[in-house]
Amino acid sequence: MEYSIYMPVNIQFGEGMVKRIDQFCSPKDRILFICDPVIEQMGLRKKIADNLKNSDISVFSDVEPNPSVHTVNKALRIAKENKIDLCIGLGGGSSLDTAKAVACISSADGSFEDYLYGKQVVKGRKKLILIPTTAGTGSECTCVGVYTDTEKNRKTGYRTPYFYCDTAIVDPELTYSVPSSVTAATGIDAFTHALEAYWNTSSNSLCRGAAMYACRDVLKNLYSCYEDPQNKTARSSLSNASMLGGWAFGQVRTTLIHALSFPFADYFHVPHGIACALSLVPVMRYAVSNEPDCLTELACFCSYPSTKDLIAEVENMINRMNLLSSIPDIHISPAEMRDIAEKACALEYAHLIPGDIDVERLTFLLNDFLRR
Ligand code: NAD
Repeated sequence: MEYSIYMPVNIQFGEGMVKRIDQFCSPKDRILFICDPVIEQMGLRKKIADNLKNSDISVFSDVEPNPSVHTVNKALRIAKENKIDLCIGLGGGSSLDTAKAVACISSADGSFEDYLYGKQVVKGRKKLILIPTTAGTGSECTCVGVYTDTEKNRKTGYRTPYFYCDTAIVDPELTYSVPSSVTAATGIDAFTHALEAYWNTSSNSLCRGAAMYACRDVLKNLYSCYEDPQNKTARSSLSNASMLGGWAFGQVRTTLIHALSFPFADYFHVPHGIACALSLVPVMRYAVSNEPDCLTELACFCSYPSTKDLIAEVENMINRMNLLSSIPDIHISPAEMRDIAEKACALEYAHLIPGDIDVERLTFLLNDFLRR
């Protein structure tokens, strides 16, 4: 047995935790908050900033879902102009990922593309605090960021140990205002991270343990949060599960479902969680057909009599939350199916699912479930 774990993030979890933000900043820090327009308009960014003694605070509040390279460059300019010491990402994964890139590149030269496409390498970063307001991506505990190149119509992941933040403040109260449709999509993302960390052929006992716990808690609590956004116990469990799922997949990577979510996002332009929901059940069935025992322990831990019951519950949850109804009815031609399969199979981590996958088999699988 051989494995490595690297987790430098100071995790602060709990209801009301964000009020203690001051403990994790120096009063002299020049701060840049990075968030999206909804978080700014709700007054959430200001409410959190009011807990700080710092006088030099600037704000970039233009992050869009699936943040573009262009948006990162705009935020980067503000960070450089204000000579920031500390970047605070506040919001869903889109804002946290933008903050990660800005914290790293604002201490160096060049545009974000130079780093994303390998011309330059990240060698350091400014201080970074991440505060999630959705329970889904687990980005606060990962060394990954995901960005959209609108010119190439392509979503790309970027990985560097510098993307691990200094402090993750995970306060479930911040998720009470998340609308049900976003709760559903982000919750499925959290489940998918945990599932892919669990069955990943490069996983280890630490990650598998965290992943099992996260899968169980998403299955137990996601629908309650969807139905009753103010259910505090369920919200807290979901935030915890999301963070654990991020922690686990950040160590061992995801697998085929996430590899497919990138070309799906390019074709269908749907939120990340919905792109994951699209292939979740078919890929679970595919993995079990290759390796019948790959979900047995997880099903037992989550108190389902069999793997079949576990998969049926996931399918039931996706249907009850109407997750796939927002996918546009685009006809995907056989050539496009092959293109999606080629793009997914080109990602090394796609092959970390139980059993083998190749372009032929994946095209066949896509044909089966994309023809609705
Ligand atoms: P998001 O950040 O795009 O936010 C979705 C919507 O929810 C936005 O409109 C936002 O304004 C709203 N919202 C967020 N918090 C809210 C709150 N408390 N109250 C009301 N509205 C709120 O969504 P997301 O799913 O959290 O993040 C998706 C992005 O993260 C994608 O780009 C995805 O690829 C990426 N991602 C990153 C990682 C990682 O490890 N870095 C992992 C998975 C996904």
